[in-house]
Amino acid sequence: MTAPVPFFDRARGDLAMQDELSAVFQSVLRSGHYILGPEVEAFESECAAYLGVRHAIGVSSGTDALLVALMALGVGAGDEVVCPAYTFFATAGAIHRTGATPVFADVLPGSLNLDPASTARALTERTRAILAVHLFGGCAPMDELLAIAGGRGLPVIEDAAQAFGAERGGRRAGALGLMGCFSFFPTKNLGGFGDGGLVTTDHDELAERVRTLRAQGARKKHHHTRVGGNFRLDALQAALLRRKLPRLGALLERRREHAARYAALLGGRDLPLALPDAGAAGRTFNQYVIRLKDASLRDPLRSSLAEQGIGTEIYYPAPLHLQPCFARLGPPEGSLPVAEAAARDTLALPIFPELTGEEVARVAAAIASFFA
Ligand SMILES: *Cc1c(COP(=O)(O)O)cnc(C)c1O
Repeated sequence: MTAPVPFFDRARGDLAMQDELSAVFQSVLRSGHYILGPEVEAFESECAAYLGVRHAIGVSSGTDALLVALMALGVGAGDEVVCPAYTFFATAGAIHRTGATPVFADVLPGSLNLDPASTARALTERTRAILAVHLFGGCAPMDELLAIAGGRGLPVIEDAAQAFGAERGGRRAGALGLMGCFSFFPTKNLGGFGDGGLVTTDHDELAERVRTLRAQGARKKHHHTRVGGNFRLDALQAALLRRKLPRLGALLERRREHAARYAALLGGRDLPLALPDAGAAGRTFNQYVIRLKDASLRDPLRSSLAEQGIGTEIYYPAPLHLQPCFARLGPPEGSLPVAEAAARDTLALPIFPELTGEEVARVAAAIASFFA
């Protein structure tokens, strides 16, 4: 049997830079400074420059980035925030944790990003914000969403956890809405060495609030102007991420190459599949998610690939309005048909940067022979 193709393997890339990473660890160890401080500040300015924003604020995770951004906007009990039904749980979990209610909108059939028309229908007099997700590394239709929000004076927040480095209309994700939220979870585009996150904004006052909230609501020690939390980024995490940031462009290029190779090998063969739009400019392919025209074949395809040692994932097996903890919020099953169909027919293929072209070809061949 040929060697397995893992869905994701971080060690390949990390081991190639292990001397450099060990030196970073030694230097943080010698500094004796472990939370926030100079490494975090340097990383924040490098991120701000790369993303094209005035402020980038390091936080403890992508989930906390979302929570602290919503808190900074003053979102809370009695408010509603519109978000897609098809996304990672944290998008809606963060809304709920502020005391506000997540209101689920449907997604577009092609990109699976937030559908502007469904978003417009979800607005009520209680809506306080729209939380758009740049799913799988491709930007949500921000122009349309900003137009809808702008008409009502509502902020649009970007959940850019999967889209570090993605672009739309010449600007980077995180610089498109009022605030951007990123994750450095190891599988993301800029994958860290543990948990970490980032909040971006051009708005000075919001940035100041995020900095206050991430450290227990105190900018001055023991003087708490707000009730925040411990949402701080570690110095070691920032120092390690600083070594990866200059490599990000090359890593994203590898992901795009893999996506193009999948498109070349799987497209034009008349397979009963819908492939991601590889031509979409500025797209980063944090995930490469195919859709099966016959949803009943999704799990058999996945098992067949697994038998050949090929790893896949399902992002996401259930839309958020049908999750047990949100089911009472509605809308009922059947109301968000695109999100519900996607949960049944999507399959994520391996796409991490260090995958080889030969491995991509092996995955594509295994899929083609499944349908033969
Ligand atoms: C990963 C992810 C998050 C959460 O980030 P963590 O760093 O794991 O807390 C939030 N939203 C989306 C869309 C994600 O993919």
